[in-house]
Formats: sequence, structure tokens, C-alpha cells
Amino acid sequence: MVGLFKCRICGFAYKEKSWAEKCKNYCRTHNACSLEITKHAVTREPH
Ligand SMILES: [Zn+2]
Repeated sequence: MVGLFKCRICGFAYKEKSWAEKCKNYCRTHNACSLEITKHAVTREPH
């Protein structure tokens, strides 16, 4: 998908780069996703 910023760890994709960064940081730190962050995701691509 073009124009989306993807969290490499969980695979959720965001329109905003800042959300993808937050997600990546959260995933890396907690080894899990934050619902507060992933609710901003537009799609989730398979791993
Ligand atoms: Zn993530």
C-alpha cells in the first residue's frame, strides 16, 4: 500500500507518520500493541 506508514513490528499501517512511530516505539517497548494507538491505524497488512 502506497502513502502509508507501517509499523514494522505489528504490521498496522497509518496515514500519519507520527502514529507509526508511536506504534513502533510502543511495540518495541511493550512487545504488544496499544489500542489507543492502533485505533488510528487504517489497515493491517499480514506479516
Ligand atoms: Zn506496532
